[in-house]
Amino acid sequence: MSEVITLRLLEDSSIHTAIKKCIQCGTCSASCPLSHYMDYTPRKIVNMLRNGMYNEVLKSKTIWLCSTCYLCAVRCPAKINLGEFMISLRRHALSNGYNNAQEYLKLIKTYAEFIEKYGRISEAMLMINYSLKTNPVKAIKMIPFALNLMKNGLLSLRVEKVNDFQVVKTKT
Ligand code: SF4
Ligand code: SF4
Repeated sequence: MSEVITLRLLEDSSIHTAIKKCIQCGTCSASCPLSHYMDYTPRKIVNMLRNGMYNEVLKSKTIWLCSTCYLCAVRCPAKINLGEFMISLRRHALSNGYNNAQEYLKLIKTYAEFIEKYGRISEAMLMINYSLKTNPVKAIKMIPFALNLMKNGLLSLRVEKVNDFQVVKTKT
């Protein structure tokens, strides 16, 4: 990777802030609903940048799988906005010819199908549908984990439709 590209990446304010302020506590990775599907956890991505692994980061699926839900940003003790950080990394990846956007497009398509049908998403069903389209073997391996969550009332397969679905339809 050229020095100019590296410099531009490191000077990007959201990337610079994360590299400088992250305390590597792992709260982001533990909070992220998509970390099981990522090749590197959000915490690891920050650490990889610190260690100069720029190519690996820009080639990673992680930066495309982040749904910018901001759960990590809300919980981060260092007040780092990893959602914005991931968006910046995508921008750098695209402008430098690292095009690994296919995973992202499949996720967005699945997301849009749910909104169109129900006006909202069900986290569990979204991930099941997405996994079946991308990595069914991994989805099967996660069944025991999902069953455990369901047993403890932390996961539901129920998909609810918004009450005033017509309003959502008109706005989409
Ligand atoms: S939660 Fe914040 S401080 Fe902790 S590892 Fe993630 S980005 Fe770093
Ligand atoms: S903003 Fe991205 S990295 Fe953070 S919890 Fe949401 S999906 Fe995970």
